[in-house]
Amino acid sequence: MVATQSPYSFISDARRERPDAFKASMNNRPLNKILSELPDSELARVMPLLKPVSLAAGERLSEGDARNRFIYFPETSVISVFADMSDGKTAEVGMIGFEGIAEVTSLLDSRQPSQSLNVSIAGKALRASTEDFARQIFDGDGLQQRLLEYAAAYVAHVSQRSACAVLHRLKQRFAIWLLLLADRLKGDVIEITQEQIGEHLGARRAGITVLVAELQAVGAIAHSRGRLRIVDRSKLESIACECYSALALDQQQTLN
Ligand SMILES: [Zn+2]
Repeated sequence: MVATQSPYSFISDARRERPDAFKASMNNRPLNKILSELPDSELARVMPLLKPVSLAAGERLSEGDARNRFIYFPETSVISVFADMSDGKTAEVGMIGFEGIAEVTSLLDSRQPSQSLNVSIAGKALRASTEDFARQIFDGDGLQQRLLEYAAAYVAHVSQRSACAVLHRLKQRFAIWLLLLADRLKGDVIEITQEQIGEHLGARRAGITVLVAELQAVGAIAHSRGRLRIVDRSKLESIACECYSALALDQQQTLN
């Protein structure tokens, strides 16, 4: 693979800044990266289609058995994609924050997905009708290009997560998952309960309780009352499996 300038390299810088810098919208442009990087003329064309919404943690945005009616461009929220099994078991296969669209494949393919979208971290997003937005895609070069680049990155993300779920241990996946969330929140504090962690990782709560205690004992995280803080990021990275190097936003390559 030819190394290209990562479109997400700004995140490492943002991480060093105060998290509230992220909350202040600059120049009234959307905080969602795909929208904010569109040329002014194209942004002006799609903005009327977008409605600002506040998403609550745990909110279910789509059911697996119906076509998504809406697509979401997360700004400060984080949305997770779950694969649902017929026996009711479920596990997270994708995570979408300010860098992406939930869910990009609904724009490209109208067939019924076997996946559902859940809000993992509350926050703001811009919402559009999938049908209206899909109609706009091929009318402008910038948007079409950005969506295709993002779709390629998203497929790579989901593929890596799927392999990780099969090949790597729960402790490694837990560490990765926390890093992925922190990247999307541009901060080290995550509002999450042990029960939610178990749902996302397809693991029993008892197992998560043991892992949280283990990671606290080595000084990687602190967790109390639904609030988890990453205390030592490099320690967490050393616990995570090799997949983080492929999944980290600031490592993500897009097709140019
Ligand atoms: Zn892995």
